[in-house]
Amino acid sequence: MASPDKYMSNTANLQKYLQLDQKGAVIAEYVWIDASGGTRSKCKTLPKKPQSIKELPEWNFDGSSTGQAPGDNSDVYLRPVAVYPDPFRLGENVLVMCETWMSDGKPNAYNFRHDAAVLMEKNAKHEFWFGLEQEYTLLDAMGWPYGWPKNGFPAPQGPYYCGNGTGKVFGRDIVESHYKACMYSGIMISGTNAEVMPGQWEYQVGPCTGIELGDQLWMSRFLLHRVAEEFGAKVTFAPKPIPGDWNGAGLHTNVSTAEMRADGGMKAIEGAMEKLSKRHAEHMKVYGEGNEARMTGAHETASYDKFSWGIANRGASVRVNRQCAEDGKGYFEDRRPASNADPYQITGMVVETLCGKVEG
Ligand code: ADP
Ligand code: MN
Ligand code: MN
Ligand code: MN
Ligand code: MN
Repeated sequence: MASPDKYMSNTANLQKYLQLDQKGAVIAEYVWIDASGGTRSKCKTLPKKPQSIKELPEWNFDGSSTGQAPGDNSDVYLRPVAVYPDPFRLGENVLVMCETWMSDGKPNAYNFRHDAAVLMEKNAKHEFWFGLEQEYTLLDAMGWPYGWPKNGFPAPQGPYYCGNGTGKVFGRDIVESHYKACMYSGIMISGTNAEVMPGQWEYQVGPCTGIELGDQLWMSRFLLHRVAEEFGAKVTFAPKPIPGDWNGAGLHTNVSTAEMRADGGMKAIEGAMEKLSKRHAEHMKVYGEGNEARMTGAHETASYDKFSWGIANRGASVRVNRQCAEDGKGYFEDRRPASNADPYQITGMVVETLCGKVEG
């Protein structure tokens, strides 16, 4: 029998084929969100490069194989909503972010984009900007944090956050590759840093206007899974991957409106805090699964049950940074969302809370 590593990818061989002429045809990889917060994708050959999103045909997949539809009515439709250059295939090839729809004309149960897009559209005049800080943990093929001793633990937290040097950071090649892949695809990746727990990292996407943040963040997650796949690493967005004295992973959500960014915007920010405080429980419902284990009040988190906000306070639900308080304008940082939350749900909930419900 051939040894298992015979089946591992061989990037040197792959390079030869990636360079072959496609004879004018374009590969479009359709990406969607599945039932467990993962991404799925499949590829379609197009006769030529699409000039706009309208030129990308609707498509479908077998929803019974992804837990998104029953077997006796399994077609789920893919509706293209955003298109990005493909950093893996290069050339004219594209990645296509899709919404999922059912045959009865209703959004799929896991399509949280639709309602959020209606809210964003209705409140476009406020010019909502979002910047999300995506934390995640790299795991080895066995599911143990990347770079950790087998069956053991590294030295306590301290040297790892923004660390440099052997033994302090793990997986920088993956992080670096993902950073460049995002830039190539036109994702507004605004930075990256090593996190407090070794093997844990963060990157930021934004500021993006309205629904675009969710589209870009989901595409950046897809890119991360795919890059890590090439390095034989797993990505987990679990909010508390390792119990105990190890930091959890969040999805800090920075928010502003045109009013908050203008002179005297602090007044609008304070008004927003008042509104957020009244809907804390509803926010927590869509701020990620397993978030209770992360929001213990320790490790730079707030209490799970109680809303609080403060200037420069990393132990509050919402932080307004010092600069913003001094300028009297800017944005606020909702620190509650967990790393596995759906950005469409988060940003939709924020807009709904600040501007009111919209019938969609
Ligand atoms: P932290 O100090 O919490 O680690 P980061 O630098 O990691 O903050 O992330 C800050 C995020 O805030 C970035 O994604 C950035 O794009 C976003 N941001 C900056 N200004 C605004 C703004 N006016 N409105 C919304 N988001 C903003
Ligand atoms: Mn088939
Ligand atoms: Mn950050
Ligand atoms: Mn962080
Ligand atoms: Mn933050």
